[in-house]
Amino acid sequence: MSHPGRSLADMDRDQWCEHKPVWVGRVAVAACDECGRVDWLSSEGPVDHAEAIAALFGSYDLAGSMQALGAPSPEVLVYVPPSARKRRHLDALPRRAWLKAGPHLWMSTDGEVLLLATTQRQLFENLTRGA
Ligand SMILES: [Zn+2]
Repeated sequence: MSHPGRSLADMDRDQWCEHKPVWVGRVAVAACDECGRVDWLSSEGPVDHAEAIAALFGSYDLAGSMQALGAPSPEVLVYVPPSARKRRHLDALPRRAWLKAGPHLWMSTDGEVLLLATTQRQLFENLTRGA
């Protein structure tokens, strides 16, 4: 069915949510609580999710794991920012939404801590290594 009376702009609004990038240092994060999608960008173009997460949250300390209802995996990892300045990196993300950060990897925040969830055992072990 066609809708000849509607403009392309109207259709854009209907079909896609707004993904507005937020710059954190040299990485831009476009995280959407409507569809759970995350895009990682730099001034040179798309950035690999692992690299981007390391740039934003690499200094965060793994505080442990917990059971989380409604999370993509039964157990999620809890990361705490080392300083108030680093905590502000969380402001780039919508609160209390599970975002697809990469293949098999989801993240969420309440504005205070970062939660990571993965359905892949190997990735889980990589993330918890060194704790
Ligand atoms: Zn979206």
